[in-house]
Amino acid sequence: MAYAQQEEDEGVRYTVQPGDTLSSIALRFNVSINDIINASDLANPNNLNVGDVLIIPGIDWVEGTLIFQNVALGDSYLSLKRRYLLSDEGMARLNQLTSPDQLYYGFPAMLASDHGELTGSARAVLNPGQSLWELAAVSGDNPWALMAYNQLPGKWAIPGDVLFTPGQQTPGPGGLPSGVQFVEVEGIGFVQGRTLVINAVTDPGIQMGGEFFGSPLRFFQETDTQQVALQGIPLYAETGTFDFTLAGTLADGSQFSFSQPVRISTGGYESETLTVNDPALLNPELSEREMAQVYAMVSEATPDKRWAGYWGAPHPYINVINSRFGIHRSYNNGEYENYHYGVDFGGGVGIEIWAPAPGRVVFAGPLDVRGNVTIIDHGWGVYTGYFHQSQILVNLGDEVQTGQVIGLVGATGRITGAHLHWEVWVGGVAVEPMDWLNRIYP
Ligand SMILES: [Zn+2]
Repeated sequence: MAYAQQEEDEGVRYTVQPGDTLSSIALRFNVSINDIINASDLANPNNLNVGDVLIIPGIDWVEGTLIFQNVALGDSYLSLKRRYLLSDEGMARLNQLTSPDQLYYGFPAMLASDHGELTGSARAVLNPGQSLWELAAVSGDNPWALMAYNQLPGKWAIPGDVLFTPGQQTPGPGGLPSGVQFVEVEGIGFVQGRTLVINAVTDPGIQMGGEFFGSPLRFFQETDTQQVALQGIPLYAETGTFDFTLAGTLADGSQFSFSQPVRISTGGYESETLTVNDPALLNPELSEREMAQVYAMVSEATPDKRWAGYWGAPHPYINVINSRFGIHRSYNNGEYENYHYGVDFGGGVGIEIWAPAPGRVVFAGPLDVRGNVTIIDHGWGVYTGYFHQSQILVNLGDEVQTGQVIGLVGATGRITGAHLHWEVWVGGVAVEPMDWLNRIYP
């Protein structure tokens, strides 16, 4: 009993973070500053340093050492709660949550370690319709032991719940089945109009998939154990949290699916007003029909990736940008309801247009708004488009190579002057094309 008393007196250990003050910490845990000073035996309370370890006394809803961990792709409220053996109250109070949705990808979650958490355990995700008993049968565990291990209050669990099973070491994201070892979003993450690169490391035989903003995530195999998906984030995606779903098929054919809130940040795009002389070309029906026609051509993902390494320039003057990608446009002082889905390179009629990467021509011909158009499929759901050309120098079905002259700059279609309008589509979504000239995509 003396030992238990001593434990209780000790309280929870908290490491001082940048920006913390004694009063902010006291407020966060609803204890007095003096109690923290006394419990922590602070010699100089006015000199608090980042990394100092404090003892927060008198807390009965959490124990151990408090740690911060950014919510990873594949982690959820439930998986973190189970793995760190926290109560709903503990999760809510540590993270000041009013809803589990606030634990979006990248959120700096406060969790508790050093109290028996299940970091070295295998995991299983409860599928809809599957009971705890069935899961226990699959994992070979005693259902009662499973309940106790996961601190389940009753013999029930909800679909999508994450349970840990004793035994095997597995470091991966808690909300996904054990065979998924690692999932990450590369680069700048979830930003309007930019390209997502999602890398997954799995056991052989697992096919990853998923869904984001209405687009299926299409993973392609790089090696037996590495898969990658490329997906554009729409310009019109609203900022804030949005559900991101990772799903797939395990080697035994069973399916899994896992949704997680992610936070979409603004791309910081500007607005402009343009004047078009032929009002017939502003007909919304015409614009929508043509948009649907282009969309249909850039939405398939062909499995043969044609590029490797950096792309070449599509135009000799890629530093002469007349209009950037993502600008919110109004035509003839109308509503700002159009987005600029490409980048405009300046320069007169007749300048050469070059294929920036190998690919196959999937469209070559005239459209009303876009003028003379070429669209190239580069594989893995990546397409490029070349608008307003004076001349198209390729045919439907042609295989083109990097640097090949595919057409000439012109002023055809809905346009204010000769230029090349260049688009890049990824997973059926138009993205910032300059990204594709500035970095290597897998
Ligand atoms: Zn343009």
